[in-house]
Amino acid sequence: MSNRHDLQLRQRAAKVVPGGMTGHLNAASLPAGYPQFFERGQGCRVWDVDGNEYIDFMCSWGPNLLGHHHPVVDEAARRQQALGDCLDGPTARFVELAERFVARSAHADWVLFQKNGTDATTVCLMVARAATGKRKVLVATKAYHGADPWCTPIPQGITPEDRAHLIHYTYNDIASLEAAVAQAGTDLAAIVCAAFKHDLGIDQELPTPEFARRARELCDQAGAALILDEVRAGFRVHAGGSWETVGVRPDLSAWSKSIANGYALAAVTGVDALREAATRIYTTGSFWSGGVAMAAGLATIEVADAQDVVGHVQAMGQRFRDGIAAQSASHGVPVRQTGPAALPLILFDEDPGYDKGAVFTVEALRRGVYLHPKHNMFLSLAHTVQDIDRALQATDAGLCRRRPTLRPPLSRSHVRVPETRTPQ
Ligand code: PMP
Repeated sequence: MSNRHDLQLRQRAAKVVPGGMTGHLNAASLPAGYPQFFERGQGCRVWDVDGNEYIDFMCSWGPNLLGHHHPVVDEAARRQQALGDCLDGPTARFVELAERFVARSAHADWVLFQKNGTDATTVCLMVARAATGKRKVLVATKAYHGADPWCTPIPQGITPEDRAHLIHYTYNDIASLEAAVAQAGTDLAAIVCAAFKHDLGIDQELPTPEFARRARELCDQAGAALILDEVRAGFRVHAGGSWETVGVRPDLSAWSKSIANGYALAAVTGVDALREAATRIYTTGSFWSGGVAMAAGLATIEVADAQDVVGHVQAMGQRFRDGIAAQSASHGVPVRQTGPAALPLILFDEDPGYDKGAVFTVEALRRGVYLHPKHNMFLSLAHTVQDIDRALQATDAGLCRRRPTLRPPLSRSHVRVPETRTPQ
């Protein structure tokens, strides 16, 4: 298993890109042995620049809901590309997709489109503040809502004033939510909740119905907006919106990642009561109305609904989870698997530095399975029972206690992977 080209590209990138790579795609945050650069993807497989093939459990960190290069989506995008993408204004796809989105999202009366998840969460805050004339926004401690100054997790290059009106609460903790609402006093604009708790490196938590209902009540009492961040969970947990599972509807939802199967698109959906405020805010972008991503979005919804993608990713995720649980029991290596099965997270007991997770995922990587040691993963429509079972063969080796390679890798900067990959 070679990584020569990857290393060369990293060296070149280090000279012309600060840090060699921005944000979550910097492979320095992954265990030694992970590639940073990829050549191509097809279905549930990706190939790195050295030609190593992996069964992909990250799906581009979410966007590839139907699998890489889904033929129906790519054909719709190609047809639109031939007509035009970035024109003097939107195409008819804009209206068609807005209609589909509103029809499909249980709470939604209208939609605004953007490009990235951060655009969508930021627009949600603007709509809520424009509607209420209030400033305070409640966010859960450690929750990720994007990389704008109000929400980026690393507070470099921003000012305390950028976050002056944020108040924190603990996800699923009603008392802490009530305390945060009390702190906001008469100045509460919105409560922001992730679709479920999916903070990096800790166990995931589904929202409790009591917590979701209380968030709804508190917003109603204060005249504030309940904002659901669906960027990560959207289209994988419930077709109509993730909190349909707990019977609570938000006022605003932020969507991105999977809604156009890898084409750059984001959306904010909202209720009628916020329509007028959404009309007043000024929010736009040179590429936001591009026709190709919207054509891809229409095709994605068509395929997702026709093929019950939610049911499929849940079933594949559960098969993977059951397999891991059986291996964990038979090898006597306790693991914790939390959150929706379609967005799996595997953490090890007594593993504060994620060393066991690193060994496990690197062993799987060497056997052609791309997992993440501390971020939730993603299933797609392209994963078959055979893919899951093949991946489980790799994880079994990774979990096997007797293997000498269960020792953690020597150093994070040691990126060379020995030629130990089992032939597929
Ligand atoms: N919200 C959540 C829950 C996310 O997971 C992400 C991206 N990981 C974002 C917002 C920001 O999305 P983007 O990176 O597309 O700006």
